[in-house]
Order: sequence, then C-alpha cells, then structure tokens
Amino acid sequence: MDFVYGPGKNHLFVPGPVNIPEPVIRAMNRNNEDYRSPAIPALTKTLLEDVKKIFKTTSGTPFLIPTTGTASSIHPSACTTAPVPHQLPSNNQFLDQFSLLWIDQQQRLNFRVDVIESEWGRGADLDALASKLEADRSHTIKAVCIVHNETATGVTNDLAAVRKLLDGYRHPALVLVDGVSSICAIDFRMDEWGVDVALTGSQKALSMPTGMGIVCASPKAMEAAKTAKSVRVFFDWNDYLKFYKLGTFWPYTPSIQLLYGLRTALDLLFEEGLDNVIARHSRLGKATRLAVEAWGLKNCTQREDWFSDTVTAVVVPPYINSADVVKRAWTRYNLSLGLGLNKVAGKVFRIGHLGNLNELQLLGCLSGVEMVLRDVGYPVKLGSGVAAAAAHLRNTTPMITSRI
Ligand code: PLP
Repeated sequence: MDFVYGPGKNHLFVPGPVNIPEPVIRAMNRNNEDYRSPAIPALTKTLLEDVKKIFKTTSGTPFLIPTTGTASSIHPSACTTAPVPHQLPSNNQFLDQFSLLWIDQQQRLNFRVDVIESEWGRGADLDALASKLEADRSHTIKAVCIVHNETATGVTNDLAAVRKLLDGYRHPALVLVDGVSSICAIDFRMDEWGVDVALTGSQKALSMPTGMGIVCASPKAMEAAKTAKSVRVFFDWNDYLKFYKLGTFWPYTPSIQLLYGLRTALDLLFEEGLDNVIARHSRLGKATRLAVEAWGLKNCTQREDWFSDTVTAVVVPPYINSADVVKRAWTRYNLSLGLGLNKVAGKVFRIGHLGNLNELQLLGCLSGVEMVLRDVGYPVKLGSGVAAAAAHLRNTTPMITSRI
C-alpha cells in the first residue's frame, strides 16, 4: 500500500527533507558513469568551486561526502582535534536537540565536551561562553561547536557574536558550525565570521535528496588537520586532498546522480541569486510568524533576534497534543508538518519553510494548519493567519526577475 499517495500534491512542510525542484529530479534521472572518465572530474571541479559560494568563502576547502548531516558532523572535531587520550581538548557546545545529538556523538568518539546549557527556545548563552573563554588562559578549549539554526525549536544563533567573543579574548579555539538547516537559506558568512568548519546536508535548503554532506574547512582548520590525532579513515580530508591534487577528486566511488543533482541545485540557487534566496526565506519566515501571532499561539523561540527563517516551532495550548496536529494534517489534508522533538514533544509542531518553496505554497500550508487547529479543538478563526501572512507577502514579494 502506498501511504504517501493522496489526491493532488503532498504539502511537504517538515524542516527537511524538503521539496526537490523538477529540474533537479530530471538532472538526477540518469545512468551511472565511469567516475574515472574526464567527465566526472570536470563536473566535480565546478561543484567544488561553486559550493564555496554557499558558504560565502573564497579561502575554504570544500568536501562533498556521500552521507547525511549526522555523519558530516563528525568531520569538524575529528579532522581538526583529537579525542581525550591525545590532547585533552574540550569542545564547548550549546544544548538543544541537534546540539544534544552532536554532543552525544562527540562523547562517544571520546572527545571531552564541556556543555553550555541553554533553555530550549533560547539561543546560545554567550555570557557563559565568555566566562569559559576568559577562564581558559592556557587555551585548553580547542573548539567552540555551535548549531547555527536549531531545527527543533527554530532558534538561530548569532555566529558573528561568537567570533567577536573569541577575538575579544584572543582565544585561538576553532569555530565549528552545524549549518544543516541554515546554509543556503539564512545568512551565513564563513570567511567574515571566521568559521573554521561548517557543514550542511543536501536534503535541507539545497533542496536535493538526502545523501550528500557538504563540509567546508578554513585554512586554519586545514592546518589543524595535518596534525590532528583522531583516528579517521573514510572522513580523512588528507585522502581527499591527494585526489584533489591529482585532479581526479574522488578517493572512492561518488554518487554520480547526486553530483548532477547538485550541479542543477546550485544553478537554480545562483539563477535566483543567493541573497534573493535568503530574502525569500526571511519573507516566508516572517509571514509564518505573523500567522502564528494571528492564531493567538506562541512561537517556541523566546526572543525575536533568535527567530529562525527556516523553521517555526508553534507551541500548542496544554489541552492539545501537538502530535495530533501533525497526524491530522497528514491524514486529512495531505499536509506534512514537523513533530515536536524530545523535550518539546507533544508541545510544539513545526512548520518548515525552507528550500524550494514559494509564497502561495506557504499560504496553502497555513490554511491547512488553521483547519487542523479547528479539528483538534483550538478555536482559531479560519483565514486569520492566512490573512496576516498574505498581507505581508503581498507587500514584500518581488517580481520574478526572469519574467519581467
Ligand atoms: N543538524 C541539524 C541542525 C539538523 O536539523 C539535522 C537534521 O534535521 C541534523 C543535524 C542531522 O542531519 P541528518 O538527518 O541529515 O543526519
């Protein structure tokens, strides 16, 4: 039985995986090829050059890895520092769902992790980080790890502020960033903010299938990788570099289809213009938040400067289980919303507004959410959120440049 089929299109509003544009689907619909022929290295060369643009770096070294965000997030620490027995590094992290997973991963890999806790729905506690950096005169902290956009709560952290703190204390720690649900959708500036390693996953704002991790390392991180003592094999950047030098690029068999998909995904992004893509996400994020306000519901994110433009976590009243909202949306309206995760399970549902998405698609989702809220017993006025969002979108949506 095909559970996914329903009349019309599924309205996919989870915060990843997201909709894949038709040109990307078509680009990937192809046979395998010999990756040692001249064609794949030539294609790879353009991809490596062009992915740097999504990180806003000219000096970074990118890696395209057949994996997911979770495995890519092994790279930042494993390639640049070492587990406890070698160097006693301590990696600071900020606590929330995806920070939790990253912390768990690093602890299991034997890294010492010094966690800076934050309440769910709040951004990174920069005062606590400042105290740690100030106290760390002997520079035992090797890396500050931070999730740019917390997908569980819709919190975007201020990376420029983290850089400013490190510079203020003249602290040499590397800045390692999980940008899985931000890069290509929320302003991210690797060079300007002095980020040393950043990563994203193909199924988020790049609007591709899952299966490709994209990691980028600064010159300082590349230098650290030369002496980092972590045991690593498949993820060893040095192996990649050998093949980069040879001009063949691949230390193993790449996914041919994903490479062609990435080529088209990047072409579409550049055609729209990366800054326009970011502005579109900002518009959609704001419209969603206006709808939530009009429904009389709260955003899980506690402060405006942390609001995420890729995902909004909506807090439901205590008499409603948010899992029922998600279930009802899918079973009745063919609308896929994000479940509340971990500490906010049952308390929030998430509207993902990232990737290849436009204003009218979002309005469809918002009208679906209104119907679902009424179904589960929340007395929302039908059309209230849609009207608030539409008013904002009508005022801010630009002409489609290619059609003028
Ligand atoms: N980090 C963040 C911020 C995420 O949102 C996710 C997935 O949603 C991950 C890491 C894990 O990525 P993946 O599911 O591709 O392994």
